[in-house]
Amino acid sequence: MDPGMRWAAVLAVLVGCAPEPTTSETGTEPEVRVDGMLTTTTWSTRSDQDGEVDVPIEVGDATTSLMVSLSTTQERPILLQLIDPSGEVVLDERDWRGDEKLTHAFDVLRKTNALNWPVRRTDEPLWAGTWHAIWASEHQEGGRNPDDGVDLVVMTKDDPDPAQATITVRLVWADGVELGVGHEAAVQAAVQTWQRDWAAYGLSVDATFHTSDMDPTLPFTANGDLAVEAIAAEVADPGDIVVFLGDSMVYKPGVFGTGPNTPGTPYPGEYHFVAVALDMFIDPSGAISTDLARLLSETLSHETAHFMGVPHVVESDWARYDALPDTPRCTTEATCESQAGRNLMFPFSQCKPSCPVRTLTPDQVGVLQHYVGAR
Ligand SMILES: [Zn+2]
Repeated sequence: MDPGMRWAAVLAVLVGCAPEPTTSETGTEPEVRVDGMLTTTTWSTRSDQDGEVDVPIEVGDATTSLMVSLSTTQERPILLQLIDPSGEVVLDERDWRGDEKLTHAFDVLRKTNALNWPVRRTDEPLWAGTWHAIWASEHQEGGRNPDDGVDLVVMTKDDPDPAQATITVRLVWADGVELGVGHEAAVQAAVQTWQRDWAAYGLSVDATFHTSDMDPTLPFTANGDLAVEAIAAEVADPGDIVVFLGDSMVYKPGVFGTGPNTPGTPYPGEYHFVAVALDMFIDPSGAISTDLARLLSETLSHETAHFMGVPHVVESDWARYDALPDTPRCTTEATCESQAGRNLMFPFSQCKPSCPVRTLTPDQVGVLQHYVGAR
C-alpha cells in the first residue's frame, strides 16, 4: 500500500463513510457489470511517474473481442502496446506511424480514446489469460502527464456467433428537432434503408428514438460534453451506440455527420456520440430528395461504422489508407473515385449524377463484427 492509499483508508474510517466508488487520490476498486455477452469493468487509477498506465484485461475462454478505453484529465490518452498473456507484444504503436490506419487509439486529440481488439480478421485472436494494454497520458505537445487521473472502461464480449450480430442504436433528438417539418418521416425512412443495407451483412440494426434537451446545434462535437454523458446514461446500456439528431453543427458547419474516435467507446461518457445535422438533408418545407434521403441513411451508417472502428478506405489526400487487405491502394482522386467511390467508407459522397448505393467489403464487415457493441 503506498502512502496515498493509507491516507485514503484512514480518512474513510475517520468520517465513517460507506466505501462508495468515487474517484479518490489513488483511484477506485473495479466495478463489474454483465449485460448478456458483454462484461464491462470500470475503475479509476493514476498514470505512473512516466505518465504511463498498464491496464490488465482478463480474457476468458469464450471471449472473442475486447475494448479498453481511457479517459484522462488532459489531452490525450495514447496506446503504446497491447501484450498477450505470454508477454508477446501483438500491437505496437511504433509499427503504425506509416500511411495505414488500423485504429485511432495511437493518435487522437481527445480526452477519451479506445482500442477494440481484434480489429481485422487477420489479427491475432484473443485467448484466455491476462492481456495488458499499455497507455500513455500525453499532452498536446507530446510530453507525458505523470500522476494523471485516469478513468477506465474495459469491455469483453463472449460472442458464440460473430457472423450474426445486433447493433443497438439509440437515436436521440436534440431539443425540439423531432418537431421539425418532415424530420421524423425522413429519419425513420433513412433508418429503414440502413437496416435493409446492413441486414445483407448479417448485421441487425436495432433502433429506438428518444427526446432530449440537447442544444440542436450540437456543440459537443468539438470537445465532448458532460451533457452527452448524462443523456447516454439515461438511454443507453453498455455496448449501445448513441446517435444525436440535431439541426446543424455549430463548430462544423457544412458537415453531414461526425463522431469522436475510430473506434468510439459505447459506454456513457463525454464522447459517447455519433452526430448528424438534419438541415443538410431536409429543407425547411420538410422536403427531402431521393439522393439526400440515401445520403442521410449513409451518413448514419458511415458515422456509426467509424464509431465501430472502420476508418476511411482512403483519406482525401489519396496517400493514407485503412489497414484492410481487401480495400484498394489508389493514389489519385480519379483512381480512388473509380476504385472506392462506391464504398460506404469513402471520405465523401459521390453523387454524379445521382448518389450510388455504397457498400462494405468483407474485411470492413469483419471490423464491425469484432466491435464489442455488435452482439
Ligand atoms: Zn468519415
